[in-house]
Parts: sequence; structure tokens; C-alpha cells
Amino acid sequence: MTADIWILALPSKGSLGEEIYGLVAEARRLRDVKGTGLITVLVPGAVPGDELSALGAYGVDLLLIFEGKGFDRYQGEIWTRELTGLVRERKPTFILMAHNALTEDLGPRLAASLETGFISRAMDLWLDPQGKVVGVRPIANGHLFEEVEVVAEVPCLVSFLPSVLAAAEKGTDQPPEIVTALAGGIDESTRLQVLAVIEADPESAALEDAEIIVSGGRGVGKGESFNIIQSLARTIGGSVAGTRPVIDWQTLPFERQIGQTGKTVAPRLMIACGLSGANEFTAGMEKSQQVIVINTDPRARIFRFADLGVLGDVHEILPRLTERIEKEKNEFKDL
Ligand SMILES: Cc1cc2nc3c(=O)[nH]c(=O)nc-3n(C[C@H](O)[C@H](O)[C@H](O)COP(=O)(O)OP(=O)(O)OC[C@H]3O[C@@H](n4cnc5c(N)ncnc54)[C@H](O)[C@@H]3O)c2cc1C
Repeated sequence: MTADIWILALPSKGSLGEEIYGLVAEARRLRDVKGTGLITVLVPGAVPGDELSALGAYGVDLLLIFEGKGFDRYQGEIWTRELTGLVRERKPTFILMAHNALTEDLGPRLAASLETGFISRAMDLWLDPQGKVVGVRPIANGHLFEEVEVVAEVPCLVSFLPSVLAAAEKGTDQPPEIVTALAGGIDESTRLQVLAVIEADPESAALEDAEIIVSGGRGVGKGESFNIIQSLARTIGGSVAGTRPVIDWQTLPFERQIGQTGKTVAPRLMIACGLSGANEFTAGMEKSQQVIVINTDPRARIFRFADLGVLGDVHEILPRLTERIEKEKNEFKDL
């Protein structure tokens, strides 16, 4: 049996994204412990050739490209069937992926199909002295952590929380071998047909995909006090998110939490309101392109991340800001 480690890349808008480099770092770490094996990246969909070849510098040996109609967008049934066949044929020891809405669906499907174990939302992963795979993941909204051991046969499936994925150092500049894995040979029959893809309402869309996020913390307050965040988000077409206290109050559901034990986001614009900017929160939003901060405390850590900082009370500023934007929008509409 080989000790090959596979990484499932999930291209978005024609790019592999940042997380792939963190997954390669994890794969290299596992290979160093095992002492042997190829690092293979599976790429469903089209990605520019130079981005693919650049992975060689990080230690990727082989790229398997999946082409064909069944791979132009995610289809759980087709992907599970095709990947199961390939895994049975090539027998990798690990399949690593980043945790997101897609792998939340694909991971359990694939694990069931391969009759193996799946560690989802891993924060850490290691091999114990007996060679058993052990992972750590958050439970109870990130208040507790559990250690899980894989007792199933290989391959072991692992999805990592994006916030723990740190890029690998560059190694040798060896271009990876690129192989087209399934072109033309895909069985596209399914018991389920996708009739239409409906764009999500930005307010409730997955945070990872959001272009604009309005996030609130303890300073905004619980329950109805949080409506000022929802109103601004609705007005500017943004998604709503919160810090852990907001989730603990059940003002927002857990999938709206940003941070170390929540979502990792990279919006074009983040408006951070009434939150202090604890490490555990900023770990999930550092990649935001533009950050506007509103806080009453000039020493709040979150101001370090601000492109525009506003010192003041969110309950005074946000309703006025929302009203002003609504007014401007209406005037613009009348032109
Ligand atoms: C293991 C572990 C994992 C964790 N994971 C996460 C995580 O994933 N995500 C997360 O968010 N936290 C996480 N936390 C919690 C984290 O440490 C902080 O406690 C939390 O982020 C603080 O939330 P906050 O900024 O809303 O509240 P606070 O730190 O209390 O900050 C409130 C801020 O609001 C400001 N403010 C108050 N009133 C107003 C007002 N009227 N107008 C404007 N500003 C105002 C204050 O000046 C202050 O800066 C984790 C903690 C641990 C131990």
C-alpha cells in the first residue's frame, strides 16, 4: 500500500484560493512523519495552468484534474461516485480538505461510500506512537474540544477549520506532474437533477462567500438590539455575523460566528460593530480587504485592523448610517 496523501482543492471563481497552501503544509507534515508518499492535489474544474504549476514549489508531486460536465459545479452524487472509484484504485492514506458548506456535504457522503472515518472541523491532527490517527475538534460552540481517533481502515478523511490552516514554506521548484483524471469517462447519471441554482439572499448566504459582512459584538447587545446590524446589512446587501457572545446569547445561530472556532471569512468589506477584536475573533477575519470599525473604546484591539475607524456608539451611528444610505439609494433610483 502506498502512503499517498490527497488534498481536495475546491476552486472558486477560477482560483484555488489560499487554503490550498495550508492543506499542503498539513500534508507535508504527515508525510514527514510517515517518511514516504506522494502529495497529490485533486482539482475539480478549471484553474489557470500557472496557478497549478506553482504548487510544485510547495511540495506537491501530482495534480489530478477532473474535467467533464459532472465537475463544472458541485454534485454530491457524481463526485462521491467518481472519487470513490479513484480512491479504491489508487488507495491514498489521507484525503484532506478545508471545512466549508461543500465539504460538509461531500465528506460524510464519501466516508460512508468508502466505509471509513471522517474527522470534520479538525484543529489539529497527528499520528500517535501506534500509528493511529488522532484529531482535535471544537464542540459545544467552541467551548470544549474533543480528541477523536480513527479506527476505520484507510483512507482517513479530514476537513480542517480554515482558520488553522497556515501556508507551507516554499521548497524545491519542481513542477508537479499534471494528469487529467476523468475527462470524458464520467458517469453523469444521477437520481437527482439540479433544475436551477438560486443565488442566496446575501443576508443569510454562507459567510465564506459573502462580499460584504456586517458583524456585531457584545457592544451591540442581544435580541432586538441586534436589529441595527440586520438593517444595515439589508440596506447594503451584506451578510450578518457575530462574535461568540452574540452566538452564546442565541441572537444569531452558530453558523454566523466568525473566528477561531467559527467561520473564516474574506469579504471585500467588513463592518465590525461593538466588538473588541479578541485574537479568537480576528483569526477568522484577517483576510478582509477593507475593514470599518465602530467602537466606543479608542483602545479596542479591533482598531488595529481598521482601514476606517469610527469612535462612537453603534446605537447612535448605525441607524443614522442606514437611514442615510437608504435616502441616497432612493435619490439615485429617482435619477
Ligand atoms: C478557545 C476559545 C475560542 C474562541 N473562539 C471564538 C470565536 O471563534 N469567535 C469569537 O468571536 N470569539 C471567540 N472566543 C471568545 C473571544 O475570546 C472573546 O471573548 C470574544 O470574541 C469577545 O466578543 P466581543 O468582542 O463581542 O465582546 P467584548 O470583548 O466584550 O467587546 C465588546 C466591545 O464593544 C464595545 N462597545 C460596547 N458598547 C458599545 C457601543 N454602544 N457602541 C460601540 N462599541 C461598544 C466595547 O468597547 C468593546 O470593545 C473564543 C474564546 C476561547 C477561549
